[in-house]
Amino acid sequence: MTHVLHRQLSSRLPVAVAGDGVCLVDREGRRYIDASGGAAVSCLGHGHRDVLAAMHAQIDRIAYAHTSFFTTEVAEQLADHLVAHAPAGMSHAYFVSGGSEAVEAALKMARQYFVETGQPQREHFIARRQSYHGNTLGALAVGGNEWRRRQFAPLLIPVTHVSPCYEYRDRRDDETPGQYGRRLVQELSDAIDHLGGDRVIAFVAETVVGATAGALPPVPGYLKGVRELCDRHGILLILDEVMCGMGRTGTLHACEQEGVVPDLLTIAKGLGGGYQPIGAVLAQGRIVDAFARGSGMFHHGHTYIGHAVACAAALAVQQVIERDGLLERVRRQGRGLVERLCAALGGHPHVGDIRGRGLFWGIELVRDRAAKTPFDPARKLHAAVRRESMARGLMVYPMGGTIDGRLGDHVLLAPPFIVGDAELDAIVERLAGAIDAAVAAVA
Ligand code: PLP
Repeated sequence: MTHVLHRQLSSRLPVAVAGDGVCLVDREGRRYIDASGGAAVSCLGHGHRDVLAAMHAQIDRIAYAHTSFFTTEVAEQLADHLVAHAPAGMSHAYFVSGGSEAVEAALKMARQYFVETGQPQREHFIARRQSYHGNTLGALAVGGNEWRRRQFAPLLIPVTHVSPCYEYRDRRDDETPGQYGRRLVQELSDAIDHLGGDRVIAFVAETVVGATAGALPPVPGYLKGVRELCDRHGILLILDEVMCGMGRTGTLHACEQEGVVPDLLTIAKGLGGGYQPIGAVLAQGRIVDAFARGSGMFHHGHTYIGHAVACAAALAVQQVIERDGLLERVRRQGRGLVERLCAALGGHPHVGDIRGRGLFWGIELVRDRAAKTPFDPARKLHAAVRRESMARGLMVYPMGGTIDGRLGDHVLLAPPFIVGDAELDAIVERLAGAIDAAVAAVA
């Protein structure tokens, strides 16, 4: 009997009692390789001594001071660190307690920016289908996952959704990746014209789509085209790197690889690596300047923003990443991971696509490889993959609805940046076994 309202009322979850390095341990002593970092969170693995020491030291100093009354040294240091490593022009960090809160704050910052600068007629957001931006009402509204939105639709602000950048399924055979990207930019341009370019607040997108579509990177040039289009209309670009950011793709920010600088950048999971709940919005100086010249404040706030222990954990995580050269390690181990995935699964009859960047990889499962036909969603292949993986001592992050919120299955991998070669071998071997067993179970 449990009094915890778990995600699944019928599920019987193992009890996690310990974690060290890339492994979690349950009460029965079973070890699980955390090949997904939970949900792309645990970038330094579990029990990292330097992070724990920084948290202990902060607790002994000051755990909490409300941000209406005080700032803390550690919040200031974390903001300095983030701004020093941020894309050009970012001047401030607004701290929150997770990804959804970061997206909510970014949406409100964007709206307030236009109120402060005399453009209150801008009231629309445009985002993409098959994106995930969080489960609070604003974030859910911009998110494009039908399954998550459906029952809450009457409560959501109206948002225009355009196509995701989903090369495996949507690029036509007669198109180059560049032409496909330009077609998508044209679709966005048409949506902007339809709404009126001076009525749109922002375009919101994950730089690399994570949970709902399985590590979908943009085609070259697509986000550059989006940036130019937004600039032409004075529309803000909000990039959501809650999942794909903070080193996951091999650069600190995924947008660095696109040569694109957003107006607002949301970060969370890898920021604190799961040691504390923390997220942030990084904001361009001109947005904060507009607030300073206008009402002198950002009209927002939560009780726990800038929590000192959360900031201490995040600062320690980010310092370890820098000190230990972990971005280079993400790139190296990422190459090792994809080589192993391609060797083990590249010719698999039910693996349609292997895609991703750094240590962030998606494997799309199909019933028929040539026709790219998905499995019957009623069979819940993704749930079977999760079950079979856990039975093999492996945590991965499978999801259904890859294609349109209903059809399609994928598995997301996001191992800690400290993952070693032998662990990569074990991850791929166990995953291949889990996929075979899951397909056999639902066939
Ligand atoms: N944005 C993206 C891109 C995400 O992947 C997620 C969570 O998976 C969120 C926002 C929401 O973050 P949280 O679950 O911390 O609220």
